Amino acid sequence: MNKNALHLYNTAIRAKELFTLPPDVPEVRMYACGPTVYHYAHIGNLRTYLFEDLLRRSLEYFGFKVRHVVNITDVGHLTSDENDGEDKMEVGAERTGKSVWEIAEYYTEKFKDDLKLLNVLPPTVWCKATDYIKEQINLIKKLEEKGFTYRTSDGIYFDSMKFPRYADFARLDIIGLKSGARIDLGEKKFATDFALWKFSPKDKKRAMEWESPWGVGFPGWHIECSAMAMALLGETLDIHCGGTDHIRVHHTNEIAQSECSTGKQFSRFWLHGEFLRESSSEKMSKSSGEFLTLGALMERRFDPIAYRLFSLTSHYRNYLNFSWEAMENAQISLNALRKKTEPFIGLEGEVQSVDARMWSSKFSNCIGDDLNSSAAIGVLNLMFVDTSLANNEKAALIKEFDSVLGLDLLRAPEKKRSAEELAKVEELIKERNTARAAKNFAESDRLRDALLSLGAVVKDSKDGTSWEWK
Ligand code: AMP
Ligand code: ZN
Repeated sequence: MNKNALHLYNTAIRAKELFTLPPDVPEVRMYACGPTVYHYAHIGNLRTYLFEDLLRRSLEYFGFKVRHVVNITDVGHLTSDENDGEDKMEVGAERTGKSVWEIAEYYTEKFKDDLKLLNVLPPTVWCKATDYIKEQINLIKKLEEKGFTYRTSDGIYFDSMKFPRYADFARLDIIGLKSGARIDLGEKKFATDFALWKFSPKDKKRAMEWESPWGVGFPGWHIECSAMAMALLGETLDIHCGGTDHIRVHHTNEIAQSECSTGKQFSRFWLHGEFLRESSSEKMSKSSGEFLTLGALMERRFDPIAYRLFSLTSHYRNYLNFSWEAMENAQISLNALRKKTEPFIGLEGEVQSVDARMWSSKFSNCIGDDLNSSAAIGVLNLMFVDTSLANNEKAALIKEFDSVLGLDLLRAPEKKRSAEELAKVEELIKERNTARAAKNFAESDRLRDALLSLGAVVKDSKDGTSWEWK
């Protein structure tokens, strides 16, 4: 294939850079900050995972092998993102009347279902914070030995002023922060210091707490990503990514604690996806409890892949404004793309002729330019009308482009499903209706998952239950 170079915008230097691997590194060591599983993911969160999937697919398209790690935050993420407020997991448990462990498991599964519906490739490794408490404690111990920590009455803190480059990543105004000392620091020495370990309250037993050299408590949120990334990928990563909200606090803190503990660069590239907004000025908030989920889009009969297409039509570094009208348009475009693709389903071919290679090169130029997916979709649409291409070459090009776009364009259409598959789905739907009527929601959730694994997406609405093929 005729691939050009892959350039990615690296937040660390605020510029696009050619992506390559160091000579002795066989695969891309990529870490993406995952969800805090106290609620459903909203479609804003999902935009970030779609961007990361585009990144992963693009790296593979450019011939890199990728070891992709995504974490599940199931402890320690406080409502303020910094050191204050309640643990989001405990808030979620109170809201639902379930235990923190139950909601962690429930929302993790729901999150994975969403990713599957969006045709997001599963990471090489899923890891969760509560499985890596030992590694987090060891990392804090190392920081303590090197003199980067101090103790207050509520925890062990990172002394950010001992890391001279602390302000660089987010271009923080340290002088301004110093002079604006109006904020109540409590026992913290400086505004940007953050908790590595928090002590459990004296008067209350937390649902999640562990012994540590400093007393019973739980890890701060930031330390989990450094500890898991280093345990699973080594001390230096090639790519670390997340949403733009992570630049100022979370990723800045990850860099500080990782680089102070190892003395090495933590990640060579940092990539950040911009926010989805519900209207031109607002951002979505999971903690407010008012947000749109993928399920809500599906209830309105949108195909999850239409949301994927909607996300791909804007560059990942631009804000994207959500509206129902935009979703309608995305669905129309997806239907049109599927119609155009249908004649090529089942054809085998290779990208060989000069013309076909030219299309391949155009496409890889777009993706190579910091993942310009909207331009890449433009190339796909233009390629369809090129009469100099043989049909089997078009089929090969669709396959190649869709390995990056992930729109599942060459999926066999519905009518090709076997009668047995249909009968099985209908049987499970009946069982699920019975379970729902008996208010057995655990069983109905289990059956929904079973149906999903058969490729049938179930939708419940006030008018009853319907389903369709994924
Ligand atoms: P959380 O579950 O809140 O930790 O967030 C999971 C991911 O979603 C993080 O990478 C956030 O940066 C990202 N995120 C949060 N809100 C939005 C939004 N409105 N649009 C895009 N990404 C978001
Ligand atoms: Zn993280």
